[in-house]
Amino acid sequence: MGGVEAEELAKLLLARPGMREDEIAAELQIDVKRVRKLLHQLSEFSLVAYDIVIDKELNKRVFRWRLQQEQVQGVVKTQLKRIAERLQMLKRHYESNQLYWCGSQGCRKYTFDEALDKFFKCPTCGGKLMVYDPSELIAVVDEKLAEINKLLE
Ligand SMILES: [Zn+2]
Repeated sequence: MGGVEAEELAKLLLARPGMREDEIAAELQIDVKRVRKLLHQLSEFSLVAYDIVIDKELNKRVFRWRLQQEQVQGVVKTQLKRIAERLQMLKRHYESNQLYWCGSQGCRKYTFDEALDKFFKCPTCGGKLMVYDPSELIAVVDEKLAEINKLLE
């Protein structure tokens, strides 16, 4: 969401809530128009909020921005849940399908029917397609799932 610049902006607001747009622009060394656009994007998701205050020095009304931490956590949690779902699907796919593979990192894996079609010869590298043991991959997926579940607690 907004990429690296949005991330930098969020970090800055987390460390120093209540910054003005021009202060953010100066700190991040990007155009103030770009800052406004980023803030607008983030506020669409309620990730940032502002207070309008009278700045005595400038003698005008200014926006002071802050990060909505709870919303940010909510968005991050939703994304983590999505990643966890995808990992579960991947795991189920490998658990329920016998796959065949030549053993080369760059080559894909094939179902039995596909491998049969190709006479158990990898169409990419010409290697022999053999039964793929997914236990190592599943162990890595389980590790990642455990990490995510810990973060979601
Ligand atoms: Zn291959």
